[in-house]
Amino acid sequence: MVNPLRPAILAASSSPRMKRLLTGFPVTAQIVRRFVAGETREELLAVAAALSAGGRMVSVDFLGEYTTDREQARDTLDEYCALIRELAALERPMLPGTTAQPVEVSVKLSALGLTLPVDGPAVATENLHLLCAEAARCAVWVTVDAEDHTTTDATLATVRALRAEFPWLGAVLQAYLRRTEADCRAFAGAGSRIRLCKGAYREPHDVAFRRASEVTASYLRCLEILMRGSGYPMVASHDPEVLAAAERLVAGTGRASGDFEYQMLYGIRDGEQMRLARADNAVRVYVPYGSQWYGYLTRRLAERPANLTFFLRAVASNS
Ligand SMILES: Cc1cc2nc3c(=O)[nH]c(=O)nc-3n(C[C@H](O)[C@H](O)[C@H](O)COP(=O)(O)OP(=O)(O)OC[C@H]3O[C@@H](n4cnc5c(N)ncnc54)[C@H](O)[C@@H]3O)c2cc1C
Repeated sequence: MVNPLRPAILAASSSPRMKRLLTGFPVTAQIVRRFVAGETREELLAVAAALSAGGRMVSVDFLGEYTTDREQARDTLDEYCALIRELAALERPMLPGTTAQPVEVSVKLSALGLTLPVDGPAVATENLHLLCAEAARCAVWVTVDAEDHTTTDATLATVRALRAEFPWLGAVLQAYLRRTEADCRAFAGAGSRIRLCKGAYREPHDVAFRRASEVTASYLRCLEILMRGSGYPMVASHDPEVLAAAERLVAGTGRASGDFEYQMLYGIRDGEQMRLARADNAVRVYVPYGSQWYGYLTRRLAERPANLTFFLRAVASNS
């Protein structure tokens, strides 16, 4: 089924007027707290420490995207480098049976300059290189998030180039894109760390599946390719159908629990995250923080009409 509200909510994610309206409601802050660890690094570190202590790994996202000037891209890089150093100082035990670094950062190339009007790809690549060098020094991993489809080629080319020096550098593939089965084949080789997600942006019909059933079917085809390959799949989904399929594929391909990981978003299906972790699976929680939470929040609202209803009801009763 297609969620009829999804296009409208995703359109709001790029509307400055809507942003001003939503951020003006005091209750918005409470809702943001469900999905975002906080606005400061200090708040983030407390959440990351608690998750690590409870046996879950983390991937931290400093919120911000579609940076419009070089200075801002540089500031984002500086924040990531400071974040990496502080994450490295956390107590972060390796999970038994896995060689995965328990602490990772996730970064959007558009936050590092990819969409700058001049030299965007070169600036983003240079910034990502500096970020990876700091991460390597601190034994923290990095995964490059997937953004809208106009950035896919540049993002994958950048990851491919930097993996020669940083072989642990991960990429994200979005199952709703029609191209992704082919990308999974290209990235299923040894050493490749691929996070497979459904995809969260508003995409045209000619590049992306729109129906939920088609997206899930594509996800399952892509997951099978990654699971049968020799890389390290990262199963990023909350969908029970996907999680059940992952379990079957793990059994069918003879993968051990350290040969792949589950990933979920902070604040979503926390009980299921803990259940999987207690059953000796590697589970990583994607934890965003920072003041630029608007785009992230609208994508979470678009995924689930119930979240939007909850949000609107809270706004109505508090305004
Ligand atoms: C670790 C991680 C990293 C991600 N990185 C990216 C990325 O780089 N690029 C990108 O485009 N997308 C990214 N996503 C988002 C992803 O593309 C989907 O939009 C999102 O995960 C919802 O898809 P789903 O597989 O959980 O299935 P869905 O079919 O959307 O959801 C299945 C079930 O999960 C629960 N659920 C899902 N979403 C929510 C929600 N917002 N609130 C409450 N419950 C919910 C509900 O129970 C729902 O029925 C990431 C997701 C994860 C988990």
